[in-house]
Amino acid sequence: MRPAGLRPPWRALLAAGAVAALGCVLLPAGAVRDGVYALVSWGGVAAVVVGVRRHRPRHAGAWWCLAAGVASWAAGDLAWVVVAEVLHRNPFPSVADVFYLITYPLLAWGAWRFVRARGGGRDRDGLIDSAIFTVGFGLLMWVFLVQPALGDVQATPTARVVAAAYPVGDVLLLALLVRLLTTRGARNASFALLAAAAGLTLLADCAFQLLSLNGGDGERVLDGVWLAAYTCYGAAALHPSMRRMTDRQPPTGVTVGRGRLVALTAASLLSPVTLMLQLALGLRLTGWAVACSSVALFLLVVWRMSGLVAHLQSQAVQLTALARTDALTGLANRRSGDAELARMQERAREDGTPLCLAVLDLDRFKSFNDTFGHQAGDRLLLQASAAWGRELDGSGAVLVRWGGEEFTVLLPGYDLDRARPLVERLGPATPAGQTFSAGVARWDGAESGAELTARADEALYRAKAAGRARVLLAAETARPLLPDPLARPRPARRRDPFG
Ligand code: GH3
Ligand code: MG
Ligand code: MG
Repeated sequence: MRPAGLRPPWRALLAAGAVAALGCVLLPAGAVRDGVYALVSWGGVAAVVVGVRRHRPRHAGAWWCLAAGVASWAAGDLAWVVVAEVLHRNPFPSVADVFYLITYPLLAWGAWRFVRARGGGRDRDGLIDSAIFTVGFGLLMWVFLVQPALGDVQATPTARVVAAAYPVGDVLLLALLVRLLTTRGARNASFALLAAAAGLTLLADCAFQLLSLNGGDGERVLDGVWLAAYTCYGAAALHPSMRRMTDRQPPTGVTVGRGRLVALTAASLLSPVTLMLQLALGLRLTGWAVACSSVALFLLVVWRMSGLVAHLQSQAVQLTALARTDALTGLANRRSGDAELARMQERAREDGTPLCLAVLDLDRFKSFNDTFGHQAGDRLLLQASAAWGRELDGSGAVLVRWGGEEFTVLLPGYDLDRARPLVERLGPATPAGQTFSAGVARWDGAESGAELTARADEALYRAKAAGRARVLLAAETARPLLPDPLARPRPARRRDPFG
């Protein structure tokens, strides 16, 4: 246990890093400043190493990649100081750039291992989103950093290529950062610190390149940002939540949150906005770059949208199926049974064919539940519906779970003479010696589905009263098969308890 009052190491590191970053901004250039800088940058590297050894995360390889990347950058800083201050040579381009440039693939590889560990390796939507950001950001990098660097007539060819390689590295980093942010893994403190570290790296790096291309001097402020990034890498690894950083989270079903939509919109607007800026500020136009990135962004957005539409469509299909099915038995539920009955009535009316409906109710099912338990009752309902389904297979009849232990059988094309034996056949098929009672009614060609069901229900009621385990027929209504649709006398029915 840590003694009370002592800060956890990650917090101590953040505090020290903040002080050092501020110091770097305020201190004049010189050995002290370089010393503080080196101490914090290597401190960040050491913190990642300590964090990994201490917390032993499952995906240590990703952390080691990050540690190597950050170390390579810190080595670049060191080499820069040695070349500039000790050897008194121009540090750009120099061996420092080798270290700096190696950092990008190392960090990117580490980030990619995190993406895969967090279950984002094959996430198509995350990939497209990342591509949208990369194209938008890539255009900015091309217009404001790569092209000017390549076209810098005062620089040697080597210096030009090296200068142009940095923004390319940044585009790679941004692609991986967005990929990481769109994964579904745990969003804990360690993840936030890591994302902050990568974001700060990008910010400092792009600002540095922009400043050096335009001869500006903001290096001291930027050094502060660099140190903040180093510190965040270290704190991310020291934070105890780093162990759960690669835990996967269940899918939320929401594929585009509001925040992501805003960010995607902004990213896809980068290309026209770049053109507008160039026009408004009288900058050199980069027509091809803007045109090509616009096409790419447009296609990516449409691709992303088509994915969303397909997702919604499949969800709609699933929801419709769910809304129609009874969860326990998988049969049609009452809602879809009603709809199916209405369709059958329509067809019977058009074709002049008969239509019957049976209502089944298991006998003394409450005592079955009381004796064997509710779960055994559920199993029986499931087995009975399966057995009846097999018995009705090929008959054209549709079995519906009406509710509880009551079922209806829709019998298109059946008159009472054929319907009754079919329903009676279900008796011996019922499992566990369970019996049911049933009432069968023939549609009179005019009554509603509810009225038809009420008549069958009334016959069922009589079957129960007569001793159960039997199928009784409802009396035919005294009407011709295709009567005047305006004349709708009410059929005999059980007294409505609510009426
Ligand atoms: P009878 O119909 O023969 O008059 O007697 P019964 O005991 O079946 O009477 P009733 O229809 O009033 O009761 C139905 C019972 O069915 C009540 C409840 O315990 C049981 N039941 C209804 N739905 C379910 C279900 O989904 N699962 C289980 N296990 N039991 C159910
Ligand atoms: Mg009942
Ligand atoms: Mg019953």
